[in-house]
Amino acid sequence: MDAWKQELQASESAAAELAAAFGLDPEQTAEITESYPARITPYLRRLLTTAAEPLRRQFLPDGAELSPDSLPEDPLDEKRLAPVPAVVHRYPSRALLLAANSCAAYCRFCTRKRQVGKRDKNLTFGEVLDGIAYIAGQPEINEVIISGGDPLTLADSLLKEILQRLQQVEHVTLLRIATRIPAIMPERITPQLVELLGRFQPLYLTTHFNHPDELTDEARHACQLLSEAGVPLANQSVLLKGVNDDLPTLSTLFTQLLHCRVRPYYLHQMDPVHGTGHFRVPVEHGLRLMADLRRTVSGLAMPHYVIDAPGGLGKIALTPDSILSLGPIVRLRTATGQTVDYPNAQ
Ligand SMILES: *Cc1c(COP(=O)(O)O)cnc(C)c1O
Ligand code: SF4
Repeated sequence: MDAWKQELQASESAAAELAAAFGLDPEQTAEITESYPARITPYLRRLLTTAAEPLRRQFLPDGAELSPDSLPEDPLDEKRLAPVPAVVHRYPSRALLLAANSCAAYCRFCTRKRQVGKRDKNLTFGEVLDGIAYIAGQPEINEVIISGGDPLTLADSLLKEILQRLQQVEHVTLLRIATRIPAIMPERITPQLVELLGRFQPLYLTTHFNHPDELTDEARHACQLLSEAGVPLANQSVLLKGVNDDLPTLSTLFTQLLHCRVRPYYLHQMDPVHGTGHFRVPVEHGLRLMADLRRTVSGLAMPHYVIDAPGGLGKIALTPDSILSLGPIVRLRTATGQTVDYPNAQ
């Protein structure tokens, strides 16, 4: 069996094991994981054992997830934008194909916290194929973003099947894979996998690193293999309280990503998702960080700071023009000129 499959099988997801391994309250951990699954791969366990709080906070269940908040489960209205269960189609030219519902670890701040890792929300391969059939019937879609869950939790044979079917759709001219695997299970980036991905060019891969401590030797090696196979890399980070909401952390992260040939692409303002309020950072603070970064790092290291507009109106790059007013409610202008309100963090 491939090392990465063993790694997934050996990962800890039972509340009792997690609580014992990380000194958590067993009852509370059981209660949290009943609503929101957790999973720690052996790689991540080694990392978390020596890691400081910013890494533990991202992956270990926290009682704050259960504290009452008025945040919605699906702020981006993805259900409304799903013509079939495996597709989110918000922009005319590009669609998300949700190819898997599992991840190698469950980030506690996940936007799709309502569904990822839950058995009853799993998609069948038939539903993924229905998603590809939908895309094939929409000539305006020219880019498919293969997402999830994490698509790289699928076996190579299934990934190949998905990529081949998408490649056969004439109007789909660009593929993108969105994955957190290089940061949390770098063993998955095998020579066989990169050889497979290299056959479907142009294929971009977006990674998800949030903190410089995630850029271990193994993670760097995974990025190197992908680059060398001709897969361009871009990174999406989420701005997270107590993880990366300070200048030294972000400037180190973005600069080191560039050194790994990964171009910082997006810095996401947290989506206001139920159970994730303890990670939220006020927009004013994010804007200050971006201004400070601009003076500190290479222009190549600057991501776009974006809010995914509530209600499924799309991503808005936060620039002075897009912000109509700040305060408890941030009033924004979308790319198409509509006005939308974002509930700010306090
Ligand atoms: C983020 C996103 C995309 C891709 O947007 P880009 O700005 O091209 O990276 C496409 N569809 C959905 C639903 C998204 O959330
Ligand atoms: S890897 Fe991505 S989809 Fe999976 S839990 Fe983390 S943020 Fe959510």
